[in-house]
Amino acid sequence: MQTASDTLSLIGHTPLVRLRGPSEAAGADIFGKCEFANPGASVKDRAALFIVEDAEERGLIRPGGTIVEGTAGNTGIGLALVANAKGYRTIIVMPETQSREKMDTLRALGAELVLVPAAPYSNPGHFVHTSRRLAEETPNAIWANQFDNIANRRAHIVGTAEEIWAQMDGRVDGFTCAAGTGGTIAGVGLGLKAKDERVCIALSDPHGAALYDYYAHGELRSEGSSVAEGIGQGRITANLEGAPVDTQFRISDAEGYEWVDRLLKEEGLCLGLSSGINVAGAVRLARQLGPGSRVATILCDTGFRYLSTLYNREWLEAKGLVRERDLAMS
Ligand code: PMP
Repeated sequence: MQTASDTLSLIGHTPLVRLRGPSEAAGADIFGKCEFANPGASVKDRAALFIVEDAEERGLIRPGGTIVEGTAGNTGIGLALVANAKGYRTIIVMPETQSREKMDTLRALGAELVLVPAAPYSNPGHFVHTSRRLAEETPNAIWANQFDNIANRRAHIVGTAEEIWAQMDGRVDGFTCAAGTGGTIAGVGLGLKAKDERVCIALSDPHGAALYDYYAHGELRSEGSSVAEGIGQGRITANLEGAPVDTQFRISDAEGYEWVDRLLKEEGLCLGLSSGINVAGAVRLARQLGPGSRVATILCDTGFRYLSTLYNREWLEAKGLVRERDLAMS
């Protein structure tokens, strides 16, 4: 056991766990990268740290400055804890549709929270555009701009991908995850391909996102919707440019939720829905790659962030996500 010299060095270096149920279902070895083990309990701590340190290195932010960002919540939590550790303020713009736990966590961290109605990206009131304007109006402030700031994906090239490669002893057949900013899939994809270009990189896209069609047919087009927070992209962000995507799956909320439920009840892992969608994608990818293949995916955040939604019976019923097996028991 090592002792960390400060809290920010706790970001990354997360454990990798073999997922028993998914591995059995696929006849393969499926591994989950435990990003919920980051100090802010999500994969986005990595991007937050790289974005802030990149701005410091470029001289864009001075002591006492402010970090402004538009986020589904997890990047805001990561930025707020990095800012607290470094002496900056944070202003976080978030759609009001995100979980209450994320809002409470941001307030507890001392972030100034600005809630906006959910709106399409083309609408000037969208949380990303609102955050850019706020950053411009605030003195000594930076706009983190996680979608188009490639310090985000660098965190996954030099961090997440290297760690997965080492933890799997250089025997990796495939990797899959969903995309929000695209930083994780692009960064891990580029990092793993640099180790071995035969590693198959698959996008697991939720319904309502446009990337499945983009990678399958070259056209950004979306269909349906998803209640998964933090994923579901409609454009090619700067982070996604050049992402080495070999194949793609479209994963429904029901398919993702099945794994969220099973991983909690059978393996004691409490995760968010994007993790379930990633695991569903990993099962599909491992089946495609064949018996005995070794596939990694991302367990993006903790389920404790969704106690009022994903782990709340009434919410599940309202979203049509109660599983047949649970209906039979009630
Ligand atoms: N899952 C969750 C819960 C997230 O908050 C995010 C980030 N928005 C992602 C997955 C996707 O990560 P990325 O932004 O690197 O594509």
